[in-house]
Formats: sequence, structure tokens, C-alpha cells
Amino acid sequence: MQSVFDQINENNHEQVVFCNDPQTGLKAIIAIHNTVLGPAAGGTRMWMYNSEAEALKDVLRLSRGMTYKNAVAGLNIGGGKAVIIGDARKHKSEALFRAFGRFVDSLGGKYITAEDVGIGTQDIEQVAMETKYVSGMPKSLGGSGDPSPVTAYGVYVGMKAAAKKVYGSDSLAGKKVAVQGVGHVGQYLVERLMKENAQVIISDIYEDRIQALTKQFPSLQVVDKDNIYDADMDIYAPCALGATVNDDTLNRLKCKIIAGAANNQLQDENRHGDMCGEKGILYAPDFLINSGGIINVYCEISMPTYNADRAYEQTERIYQYTLDIIETAEREKINTHQAAVQLANKRIEAMAKLNSNSKNRYGF
Ligand code: NAD
Repeated sequence: MQSVFDQINENNHEQVVFCNDPQTGLKAIIAIHNTVLGPAAGGTRMWMYNSEAEALKDVLRLSRGMTYKNAVAGLNIGGGKAVIIGDARKHKSEALFRAFGRFVDSLGGKYITAEDVGIGTQDIEQVAMETKYVSGMPKSLGGSGDPSPVTAYGVYVGMKAAAKKVYGSDSLAGKKVAVQGVGHVGQYLVERLMKENAQVIISDIYEDRIQALTKQFPSLQVVDKDNIYDADMDIYAPCALGATVNDDTLNRLKCKIIAGAANNQLQDENRHGDMCGEKGILYAPDFLINSGGIINVYCEISMPTYNADRAYEQTERIYQYTLDIIETAEREKINTHQAAVQLANKRIEAMAKLNSNSKNRYGF
């Protein structure tokens, strides 16, 4: 097994902070991957990891993904992410989130946090009692609120762009779309797809999530969480956790497009990215099409007052970016993930040379 420092060095992370507070039971890791474009920004995930090693691996991958995401979305922020080890349905408390807020604050603005899986605006409000380096604050407090509807919109337009390439039309009417995970983002994505008359298939590990949506949309087809990969579908939309595009699932998926909100969908970015192409599946890079949430957060931290129209306007550009990246991948004979990473790295290198002096409200 790789040492902790070897893992940190592998993708040039700048800093990793282990947050331990026995009083509240807080065990969290903050990973700052790259701050060339600005302070590292990315949400905090709360998840019951099987081991601390698994939590570290996740936060390192997620924070690197944020660097790419923020870069391709044209934002002046770097990449970071945090994970809190614990069950979001059992282990939340005000004290835990405030203890976490103190660790975020100790970084002096080098890392700005927000929501991710398992974390809601109420939790973020508690983090904000201890630090100003928080975004995704409730709208009632002048913040941008839950980023999920904007994320879902970005996934939707990215999916449409992929459909345009594969089917010659970006209409999703009649397309069979399997949405894995109907949590914050998944439910808004389902709403958009239903509005466009797509045939939507859903799965989730929690029955209450399924029931809430099927009550709203009785024509939804529900499949067991382990069988979703075998469903008859045109588009697979992973909106739960990462690494669901792997050797096993690629042998089962019969779709033409993969386009979803989950971070780090490809278990092995190069190999599984290539395998998608070989199997005739167009993969819309996750960090590109799920960047609506961070765009929304950026609209909160970079402007004196949050403007939702601006967030949606900027998110809509994902449609064209997706088409551009598909074209680059075809031209350069690389997979779509590699094309998106290439674009992100180009921007980071160019901005590093520029020595930009643009500042957000934190003075970075
Ligand atoms: P969420 O926790 O609200 O929803 C995730 C849903 O997936 C939950 O309902 C959960 O029960 C379900 N789930 C978990 N494992 C599953 C499985 N094996 N099969 C089926 N369902 C399963 O989280 P979210 O905020 O909706 O985020 C979803 C994904 O999108 C995450 O990977 C997150 O990192 C990513 N993402 C979210 C945002 C955002 O704005 N919330 C932005 C960018 C990326």
C-alpha cells in the first residue's frame, strides 16, 4: 500500500489537512489540490467510509477533480474538497459542523467549502458560525442556496449536447434515461427529463427518495440499485457516487451516452475512458457537465450579491463546451476525459504565466 505522502505526491496536491476533534467525534480530511487559479473551492462530503484510507483516496480524487472542473468552467478558483467520515443520517450535530468550521477557518481562506453528498444548507450554516470561508449559504442569508438545481441544469444541457452528437438532435424526448441516485441533483434532473418527455428509469438505496419521486411522476420506472446497469437505456446518468463506470458495468451497459452528476465516474480515467469509446459510448466528462453547482457557488463568492440568472447563464455554456471537447477528442484521437483534462491544464498553465490579479470577495 502507498504511503500517505506518496499518495499526496502522486497528483501534486499542495496540502492535506487531517481534522480530528475527539470532543465532537469529528474526523475529517481537507485536501487542497491546486491554487494557481485562486483559493481552493469545493464541497464537503459526509459519508460512512469503510476505512480512513478510503476516505483519503476519495478526498484526493475529488479535490483534483475540482481543479479540473473549476478550470474548464472558466472560474478563478482552484481545486479542493473535504470529507467528513460519518453517517449523514446519524452522526450530524451542530458541534461537529462548528468544529469542522474551525478547521476550515484555520486555513485562512486557502480553502472555501460548500455542500456535497450528505451535507445540506443547514449544516453549512453551522459551519459558517465559525468561518467566513463558506459558500452555498441559504438564500435567506444572502447566499446562493442549494447548488443542486443548477448542477442538474448543467448535467441536462451537457446530456443534450451529447445527444446532439450521437443522434443528430439534442431532443431527449422518448430517450430512455437511467438516473442512478435521486438525491439533491438526481431529483432535479429527473424533473427536467420528465418535462422533456424522456422515458426515465430511476434507482436509489433509500426507499423514501424513490417514493417521493414516483408520487410526483407515476410513470417513472424503478429498478433495483444493483440492476440499473442492465436496464434497457439510451443514456446512463450516474448521480450517486463515483467509479460506477468500470470493467463490470461497461460489460453490462447498453447505452450510447454516459452523462451524469456524480464525480469521478470512471474508475480508471484512461482505461475506462478509452473503453467507453471502444464500446461506442459517448462519455460526457463528469467534471465538465456537473460544474453548474460550483458555478453557482462562484457567483456567490465572486460578486457583491448573488445573481441566479448569471449562474444559469454561465451554466448553459456547458452545452457548447461539451460539443467542443467531443470535437477535440475526435481530432486528437484521445478520449473525452483526456480532452477535458487537457483543456483544464492549458488554462491553468496560461493563467500561471499571466500572474492574474483578479480578486474575489476574500481578496484572492
Ligand atoms: P445526494 O446525497 O443528495 O444524492 C445522492 C443519492 O444517491 C442519494 O439519494 C443516495 O441514496 C443515492 N445513492 C447512493 N448510493 C447509491 C447506489 N449505489 N445506487 C443508487 N443510489 C445511490 O447527493 P447529490 O448532492 O445529489 O450529489 C450526487 C452526485 O453528484 C455526487 O457524486 C456529488 O459529488 C455530485 N455533485 C453534486 C453537486 C451538487 O450540486 N449537489 C455538484 C457537483 C457534483
